[in-house]
Amino acid sequence: MENRNLKQDLAQLDAILKDQGISRRDAMKMMGLSGAAFMVGGTEAEAASELKASGAKGHVLIIGGGLAGMSTAARLRSSASDVQITVIEPEAASCSYQPGQTLVGAGLWDKSEILYKRDDFVPSDVKIIKEKAVKFDAKNNTVTTDKGTEVKYDMMVIAAGVKLNYAAIKGLEGAGEAYSSGDNRALVSELNAKGVSSIYSADGSEATWANMQKFIAAAKSGKKVKGVFTHPNTPIKCGGAPKKIMYLTNARLKEAGARDNADLHFYPNGGGMFGIKDYHTAIVKQFEREGFNWSYKHNLVEVNNGTAIFDNHGKAKGAWDEDLEEYATITTHKKVETNFDFLHVTPPMKAPDELGKSEVGSAKGWIPVNKETMQHVKFPNVFALGDIAAVPMGKTGGSARKQYKVVVNNVISMLESGSIPATNAKYAGYTVCPLITSIGTVMLAEFNWASKKLGSGTNAAMTTLLDPTQERYIWWLLKFYLLKPMTVYGMLAGKA
Ligand SMILES: Cc1cc2nc3c(=O)[nH]c(=O)nc-3n(C[C@H](O)[C@H](O)[C@H](O)COP(=O)(O)OP(=O)(O)OC[C@H]3O[C@@H](n4cnc5c(N)ncnc54)[C@H](O)[C@@H]3O)c2cc1C
Repeated sequence: MENRNLKQDLAQLDAILKDQGISRRDAMKMMGLSGAAFMVGGTEAEAASELKASGAKGHVLIIGGGLAGMSTAARLRSSASDVQITVIEPEAASCSYQPGQTLVGAGLWDKSEILYKRDDFVPSDVKIIKEKAVKFDAKNNTVTTDKGTEVKYDMMVIAAGVKLNYAAIKGLEGAGEAYSSGDNRALVSELNAKGVSSIYSADGSEATWANMQKFIAAAKSGKKVKGVFTHPNTPIKCGGAPKKIMYLTNARLKEAGARDNADLHFYPNGGGMFGIKDYHTAIVKQFEREGFNWSYKHNLVEVNNGTAIFDNHGKAKGAWDEDLEEYATITTHKKVETNFDFLHVTPPMKAPDELGKSEVGSAKGWIPVNKETMQHVKFPNVFALGDIAAVPMGKTGGSARKQYKVVVNNVISMLESGSIPATNAKYAGYTVCPLITSIGTVMLAEFNWASKKLGSGTNAAMTTLLDPTQERYIWWLLKFYLLKPMTVYGMLAGKA
């Protein structure tokens, strides 16, 4: 893969940093990114030297060639040259950079800047089957595709991501279910017909920017307008994205001098802004500062002719229970309707049914794994990672970046010895949400499943030095200039 874009991005970053009197190396240190040696002038060989060389043999089948799947294939190839690797992935644009969709949605990047072809990231000697895996017979180590191809494996790694379930919202049934990557023009035309914007596909983020501009123009013309932003009742990838697009709409309105005419209202299903108290408190303060409105415990259930309809759920005291000698708790539901001029929908998400409802799926439809080894709870020769894995708070590219190295090591150990040594590195629940709060500021929320707030690079000293609840320009530089090349040239090459 040619590093042309990487060079351009880094040159731009250097110019900005020079203006501020900081070298790139110092900036990277501040960002806790020193490990990504190849990014600061170190050689690719330096970064690759952390890989363990193994003479393991066997066939590893990877389901899904998105960010997690292709990174796993690349690292496995570099570590174990004798292992036979096959990836099943039907979508040609599966390596597109999804975190950039938020920036496309606000007109800061062009869609063409985030589209990447899977075939540009296939390591040597890795076979790609451009079909969809539909049948999983884990007892016989066999997968069958939609075209009837049968594949036998020694180890299987499931990295099939999530499906966007617009169909679960009444009025959006026509939009159906979709993946983030690929041609989603039909989905977008269906959403547009209902006045809905959604940055969860590349096409959707482009349409969001077009709709946002109309919204801003209406506010600028003097009309009082309302922007509605939702967060559903299922786990979602990148929990911060529903808020990021609201912050960017706010920034664009301010830029146009039209902010006073717009009511921006956030309707999350949950009862808080963030699972971690410090970040929750910081976000509430930001919302107050920016004059946003918000209503907790509102789940979008219907879109009907310019009206968004929510299930406002809560808990109330029920009847007296004589046996338990206490009042029962009942769930209450109230229908709440609001008109909108701009509606950004974050759809409910689920694992693809062919996996979630198969014998490798869990009762809740995800792939159940040991959260530290990423090994399937029932089938020891099956692993899962990325958005589809049933681990707490793990649905970000940042989590996948930690998980794929653990999976590769453990798959190799299983091939070598049939077990995972206790000394193998474990996934510790790291995840990251670069919460864009305006054009030029980001709060870098890093945390793990102990709900522990972490400083940059999970480094305790950095937490003291740079309070992670503060919005900073340096994190904007990280988000805007560095994370994409780090993902595309580092992670998808199995190195970063
Ligand atoms: C708007 C948005 C903003 C985001 N922002 C951030 C951010 O700021 N930071 C961050 O870290 N992360 C962010 N993310 C999340 C990040 O993009 C995902 O966590 C990451 O892509 C997960 O990788 P994955 O490989 O699990 O899934 P994907 O990259 O989605 O890949 C899954 C692949 O599996 C394939 N597949 C599905 N079913 C089958 C099947 N049956 N057979 C074969 N193949 C199959 C699909 O075609 C797809 O290509 C964002 C995502 C979005 C949408």
